[in-house]
Amino acid sequence: MRVDVLTLFPEAFEGPMTTSMMWKARDRGLLDLHLHNIRDHSTDKHRAVDDTPYGGGGGMLMKVDVIANAIEAVKDTDQTPVIYLSPQGRLFSHAIAAELAQHPRLIFLCGHYEGIDERAVDLLITDMISIGDYVLTGGELAAMVVIDAVTRQLPGVLGAEGAHERDSHADGLLEGPHYTRPQNFRGLEVPEVLQRGHHAEIETWRREQAIRRTWRNRPELLFKAVLSEDERYLLAKIALDEGSLSR
Ligand code: SAM
Repeated sequence: MRVDVLTLFPEAFEGPMTTSMMWKARDRGLLDLHLHNIRDHSTDKHRAVDDTPYGGGGGMLMKVDVIANAIEAVKDTDQTPVIYLSPQGRLFSHAIAAELAQHPRLIFLCGHYEGIDERAVDLLITDMISIGDYVLTGGELAAMVVIDAVTRQLPGVLGAEGAHERDSHADGLLEGPHYTRPQNFRGLEVPEVLQRGHHAEIETWRREQAIRRTWRNRPELLFKAVLSEDERYLLAKIALDEGSLSR
């Protein structure tokens, strides 16, 4: 997948995009990341990218002509989504990451200051994504969150094929607990079922733990999760056992 990021701070991507899984994905050619400095598209002799808002109100806004130049310099076809990271966008989720991973190319616009001139949204942006109901200083962190989550969905990025399908949220549930050596740490034992190594039993236990953990930490997710009849019965039992303790 090719990803173009338009930002005033390309250097902010050093670190998260040059280490661990993101670096491996880039190294293997699975993520083709291009960072573009929006300032390079200013036609102003001072390389200005922002101006005061009409109507006052304080703060600065990124200029529509500079944004248009920056987007049009990288955009190839109308099929490529041009995504503005914004606290006003649709709330990012596993499902949106999976949806974006289907595209061969994505373009991200990182805002700054008070945001961007609304005409850039009207004319050039095809999607707006928020990473949560809070306000960040700029869109760079949000872009990195989205790129990381999307890249993990690309075939071949994670070592074990399909590993992302077992992650939290992939099937609507949180993932259950994991353990590694030592077998006993300060009196806490690794659950016996994991030590026995019986695959079917382990799968049943993991599914049960996922339902139990989702009930405890994010019960609202269970409204949408697809559960078998046995699992619904199990959930009712967990709710009876734990309901009064956790709430
Ligand atoms: N005045 C804007 C508002 O209230 O909607 C917020 C501007 S914010 C200080 C500057 C930039 O950070 C935004 O243009 C956007 O690109 C980015 N940003 C801030 N919060 C974000 C969030 N929750 N998700 C995605 N991007 C965000």
